[in-house]
Amino acid sequence: MEETLINNAQSLTEIEKLVSECERCSLYKTKIKDVPGVGSEKADVMFIGEAPGKDEDIQGEPFVGAAGKFLTEMIENIGWKRSDVYIVNVLKHRPPNNRDPLAEEADACWPFLKRQIEIIQPKLIVFLGRHAMNRFFPNLQISKVHGQAFRKDYINKKQVFLALYHPAAALYNGGMRSTLQSDFNKIPKILDLVAKAKDSKKDDLSQEKLF
Ligand code: URA
Repeated sequence: MEETLINNAQSLTEIEKLVSECERCSLYKTKIKDVPGVGSEKADVMFIGEAPGKDEDIQGEPFVGAAGKFLTEMIENIGWKRSDVYIVNVLKHRPPNNRDPLAEEADACWPFLKRQIEIIQPKLIVFLGRHAMNRFFPNLQISKVHGQAFRKDYINKKQVFLALYHPAAALYNGGMRSTLQSDFNKIPKILDLVAKAKDSKKDDLSQEKLF
């Protein structure tokens, strides 16, 4: 499948169809279901994880296993519903046995995520874990930047990002779990600040922390 075809998709439904036909890497051979992403096309916030696991592959929806239940709980704790946000992974098909995605798989899948971001135009992109964050910003360390929103030029416009620990990593680790929950609870306030910070000219993400 040519990248231009993906770049020309006009809706999330078109993307879903293209994901279902995709043979850009070999993961389509072992998939059960496509996991293109779920949620509102008008979402202000987009959560990005790494790759579907077993439950996601079976149900065709990202973050529906144990980590997903924890994510849903955190979304509901701030008074939102899962359907208010958009949830997606870097990879749209499950790597066998949950192995780490290969670079060529992530590269092959990248145009889908890029187009999803362009269509949704979220006010805030939240990385769930270091793997997703490092696809965008290879040099950042999650232990240093988690919970601190930053702005950066991305696809010709300013975009605000927030990195969180991965819910699966934090689930059974008390310290990390409470850090993730308190970082997560900043999201509504960050959205308020995004509107206020719109006119700022600064580009250096290391300097421009909203928190
Ligand atoms: N972990 C992820 O990164 N994504 C999912 O969809 C589920 C678990």
